[in-house]
Amino acid sequence: MKFAIVSKGDDRSNKIQATMKQYLTDFDLDYDEKNPDLVISVGGDGTFLEAFHNYVHCLESTSFIGVHTGHLGFYADWVPDEVEKLIIEIAKTPFQVVEYPLLEVIIRGHSGGREDRFLALNEATIKTPEGSVVFDVDIKGAHFETFRGDGLCISTPSGSTAYNKALGGGIIHPSLEAIQLTEMASINNRVFRTIGSPLILPKHHTCLLKPIVDRSFLITIDHFTQSYTNVKSIQCRVAKERVRFARFRPFPFWDRVRDSFVADDDDDKNK
Ligand code: NAD
Repeated sequence: MKFAIVSKGDDRSNKIQATMKQYLTDFDLDYDEKNPDLVISVGGDGTFLEAFHNYVHCLESTSFIGVHTGHLGFYADWVPDEVEKLIIEIAKTPFQVVEYPLLEVIIRGHSGGREDRFLALNEATIKTPEGSVVFDVDIKGAHFETFRGDGLCISTPSGSTAYNKALGGGIIHPSLEAIQLTEMASINNRVFRTIGSPLILPKHHTCLLKPIVDRSFLITIDHFTQSYTNVKSIQCRVAKERVRFARFRPFPFWDRVRDSFVADDDDDKNK
């Protein structure tokens, strides 16, 4: 099996990267940054997002796993103390694979009619540095509302615990193939009206955002932001591609949600 390791770049992560690389190579696994079967991210969720985007072109043949060297990570769920155990598990292969849905974003019309396509593991956000964004929101080909406000966040189920959650969106189990639209400070008064609630769209229900007022947009895909002008439309839907997580032990989604956001039962009792 071929593997690659993406490190956050700090001393601790680099040390773990070097140890894993050495031991896994000793177990006759091949270090191959070009075509890895398994990508190990060492750092935090940000490092995991970076690893995902580094290998987004070969999702069909690549699985991901994360070791976190900072505070508890949502994607990076192995701790440094468990690295030896993880190395043995990886060396034993084959491993189980769990697949989660992704978000597809297509930005059309900018730079003389160009079209950009992205996949997001967490979410896309659309904001502007020039006041409010104003766009028509179409869902499944029909006009739904005209949105005015700070922006919109469109997230995947596994990203629903990230920015989406901070915006009051619901947490969606990644076995559901859906995307979620959450508003950022929409303007709602007697003149302007939006739904005001997060919307959950199933697979094949495309959401199309069509700017009414020509603004420059700041469009974020997971951890990177790009500025766009002359955007004609932004199309969002569940992607046909999926992300594959290598699983060496069960770690149910709701356990991860509880461990990340709800105090541990024993911690509570000790307070
Ligand atoms: P960062 O360093 O600012 O990390 C933001 C936090 O989000 C970290 O604590 C990280 O562990 C957590 N996180 C990332 N993905 C998560 C997930 N799926 N579930 C739960 N928590 C998650 O930024 P970064 O490391 O570059 O990560 C980019 C991500 O930050 C974006 O995808 C976005 O979801 C998140 N973000 C959150 C807010 C917010 O909550 N208000 C604002 C901006 C960005």
